Amino acid sequence: MIVGINGPVIKGKGMKNFKMREMVTVGQKKLIGEIIILEDDIATIQVYEETSGLKVGEEIFSTGRPLSLKLGPGIIGNIFDGIERPLEKINEINYGFIEEGIGLISLDEHKLWDVKITAMEGDILKPGDVYALVKETNSIEHRLMVPWDISGKVIYKKQDGEYNINEVVVKLQNGDRIEKLPLYQMWPVRTPRPIKSRKAIEKPLITGQRILDTFFPLAKGGTVAIPGGFGTGKTMTQHQLAKWCDADIIVYIGCGERGNEMTEVLEDFPKLIDPRTGMSIMNRTVLIANTSNMPVAAREASIYTGITFAEYFRDMGYHVAIMADSTSRWAEALREISGRLEEMPAEEGYPAYLPSRLAEFYERAGYTENLNGSEGSITVIGAVSPAGGDFSEPVTLNTKRFVSVFLGLDRNLAYARHYPAINWLSSYSGYLDSLKDWYDENIAKDMMEIRNKAMKILFEESKLQEIVKLVGEDVLPDDQRLVIEIAKVLKIAFLQQNAYHKDDTYVPLKKQYKMLKVIDSLYQYGCKAVKMGIPISIINNKEIYDSVNKMKYNVSNEDLSLINNLEASIKKYYNELFKQYSA
Ligand code: ADP
Ligand code: MG
Repeated sequence: MIVGINGPVIKGKGMKNFKMREMVTVGQKKLIGEIIILEDDIATIQVYEETSGLKVGEEIFSTGRPLSLKLGPGIIGNIFDGIERPLEKINEINYGFIEEGIGLISLDEHKLWDVKITAMEGDILKPGDVYALVKETNSIEHRLMVPWDISGKVIYKKQDGEYNINEVVVKLQNGDRIEKLPLYQMWPVRTPRPIKSRKAIEKPLITGQRILDTFFPLAKGGTVAIPGGFGTGKTMTQHQLAKWCDADIIVYIGCGERGNEMTEVLEDFPKLIDPRTGMSIMNRTVLIANTSNMPVAAREASIYTGITFAEYFRDMGYHVAIMADSTSRWAEALREISGRLEEMPAEEGYPAYLPSRLAEFYERAGYTENLNGSEGSITVIGAVSPAGGDFSEPVTLNTKRFVSVFLGLDRNLAYARHYPAINWLSSYSGYLDSLKDWYDENIAKDMMEIRNKAMKILFEESKLQEIVKLVGEDVLPDDQRLVIEIAKVLKIAFLQQNAYHKDDTYVPLKKQYKMLKVIDSLYQYGCKAVKMGIPISIINNKEIYDSVNKMKYNVSNEDLSLINNLEASIKKYYNELFKQYSA
């Protein structure tokens, strides 16, 4: 029975028969909640729905299990709230907003799926083994797997055909137990799904974004943070990754941000074409929406719901990328609930367990061998939105401890309309070494070498700019002025990338390499010319530099031959110059 209500946190008495972390339904409206503290017969419950209207004295009901997701066909292409309730269904019921007391709906139980049963009578199935296949979308085959605590001999299988998710399609016998396998399984969101083993992270997650793939590469199974102040491009970067990265499945969590950003996603994504399949990217995407106007406790849960979806598809052998925008809003949900629990606050009012919760989230990333022997990965990409863009606040600092790629968004770059506004001096990728072999074999032997050279030029330029600020550029020797010129080209021609341009929005790695190679040769020729005493004003020929700055628009992604022409004209220009000056 309810004895106290404090926003999303309620207290119940007479709860002796309940369990810690149990999912409960609360009051007449059967609001969904979770027991987070249980002392004797007093339970503290966090409720995932709007609690206004709830009254002291109303009953609390047991469900007998922890907060769990139904995992089965119908996830991909769908849009859920933080506890797996389909937004569309909710909208149908409530004309546009989440009314309290929807209850435990999740996957569509009426929809018929075309099921192919792969298990044979007499087969011995173990946890993780695939027993049936469903074509969930045009590009994703849903592989139904035996739950982790079930195994046995197949004693019954249905014919291939059309079934809803509740239909038992396979039965297993284990001793005198008969296990029935429908088209779904349940999983408690806060528990990582079991795997066979973790594997080395050595394959890139290709994004088509030059500053990422070439300078700060992401890896399949890796962890990434994108911190940035308001308007610096966190959401834009996440969208670009969701659209373009070469994961099989995208889990996108809109977490605590304004509703209109999520509306953009909902309108944008279905129209976008996945270049690998030629079909809508919703064919590989699941969206979780918990915008700022939705209940705060469901926001807390949305991260776990998202990562559990990700693990489920990873277990099938897929590469999954999960984006959370933003983890700061999630941390604020933790803080709000913690405050209501009157816990002792740590830094800036966040609970002392903030770091461990963040760690738990990022630790569910990885490249794995799954129970059924397949390989899969989860790449976790979290946006962080520190107030005022101050990276020394607790969420940014703690996130930094647990991620390997850090893409710091910079307000000054965004003001200057240098997009993506990722600061190349403060960002890093911890995967450069482990991905080197892949780049060597698949792109070019000197890819990492010219990348490092370019990085060196950028660092040198930032130091030179300090001097320029004091005494002006004219006093610099020509070799240093060349560094400044080439850095400018690197920024304009390479680092800046226009998400709205049809070719520039996604650039294949081979083109990225060629582009960088052109800039590298521009630098080589420049160095030689400087040594020969050729004036810098002639070295940085406007026409040549302009054509390099524009190659991203002038060279199509499909036909790189124009880059070869550009290379040839650069070579011709400088060779003639060298001839002229050595004569
Ligand atoms: P945040 O989520 O950090 O508040 P947004 O992602 O909404 O910021 O970005 C703000 C604006 O910056 C976008 O609406 C867009 O106009 C611009 N922008 C950011 N990145 C790019 C990019 N790569 N190409 C073009 N415009 C960009
Ligand atoms: Mg945003």
